[in-house]
Amino acid sequence: MSFQNPVFIPGPTNMPEVIRKACDMPTIDHRSPSFAQMFRPAAAGVREVLGMSPTAGEVLILPATGTGGWEAAITNTLSPGDRVLAARHGMFSQRWIDLCRRHGLDVQVIEAPWGEGCPVQAMGEALAADREHRIRAVLATHNETATGVLSDIAGLRRAMDGAAHPALLMVDGVSSIGSVPFEMVSWGVDIAVAGSQKGFMLPAGLAILGLSPRAVKAMEGANLRRAYFDLRDMLNSYSGGGYPFTPPVGLINGLAVSIEMLKAEGLENVYARHHRIAEGVRRAIAAWGLRPCAARPALYSNTVTAVVAPEGFNGTDVVTLAASKYGVAFGVGLGEVAGKVFRIGHLGSLTDVMMLSGLATAEMCMADLGWPVAPGSGVAAAQEYYRSTALEEQRVAA
Ligand SMILES: *Cc1c(COP(=O)(O)O)cnc(C)c1O
Repeated sequence: MSFQNPVFIPGPTNMPEVIRKACDMPTIDHRSPSFAQMFRPAAAGVREVLGMSPTAGEVLILPATGTGGWEAAITNTLSPGDRVLAARHGMFSQRWIDLCRRHGLDVQVIEAPWGEGCPVQAMGEALAADREHRIRAVLATHNETATGVLSDIAGLRRAMDGAAHPALLMVDGVSSIGSVPFEMVSWGVDIAVAGSQKGFMLPAGLAILGLSPRAVKAMEGANLRRAYFDLRDMLNSYSGGGYPFTPPVGLINGLAVSIEMLKAEGLENVYARHHRIAEGVRRAIAAWGLRPCAARPALYSNTVTAVVAPEGFNGTDVVTLAASKYGVAFGVGLGEVAGKVFRIGHLGSLTDVMMLSGLATAEMCMADLGWPVAPGSGVAAAQEYYRSTALEEQRVAA
């Protein structure tokens, strides 16, 4: 693998130099005011990215990855045997279900084909049928990284409200937050989970949680076992600007810089950049005569696209060859779509020019493997789109 080339996996993402440098810092006392000075703006910035109110609810930044964020979300708000409603339509929604089961929760699963979004209508019907309100939480994966599908969280909230159901709404936004709009307050999300290594362009190591006031309240009655991830300890220490244990100071300093970068570009511009880069990728895929795994344009993710391999070909071969021959990383298909797709990550610190190199590499691999794809066709389609949509003075992540 070449360290010169960008990666095109859907996380961890490419790191801007300024963020890498911010993570590499001398030791400071994490109980000193300097730590609080670094931490507070980072946490305040996370609120903006999550679409939270500036004051209501809590932001918690834990030493963990996204999966640890899920565990903290459920163990702090639920009790053994509690019922949760979840859709399964990809590897990440599947893994969240598995984690809940291992914690002794009663998971009511609604199946949807991989390539579909969260089945909002079926979820609404399940909630309406639950007259005794036994379902305590609804789990949704905003961006299914395995299939490149973005789900309609506002629609899911409407379905919950339509059923007048009081369950908490917990959303995995690990591969969407910071790259596409996320609106905790207006979507009525009770817990949002993010991680440092995707839209925030940092190394892995931080689980980032946004909690609504209702979610904070739910901590009191929740009896699932938790110790290190007991968020009540975190909140107690937070009031003094610190942590109940040693925080990963370098990563938090990196997060503060990541927030500055996102704000300097402007969140709207960050989202527009992700849309534009993703649309170029989709034009390329269409020119190759291939299709995304996502079933419909309304479901297309602006952070990752799973490309369906033609009949008789294996998507994993593209990923293996790209790594061994060209030193470039793409994502393999996971779970039900293993071998059937390869994934192009297009989130984080990325420009149109970087993306063209990824598309060109995918074309070389597909040609090497004898896929019925004309080399240059996808790059040409993406070039055409990027040329016609380029801004005079592009504001891109450094
Ligand atoms: C990356 C990712 C996760 C978290 O995985 P970790 O490896 O634990 O950080 C969770 N959900 C989705 C949708 C993801 O893309």
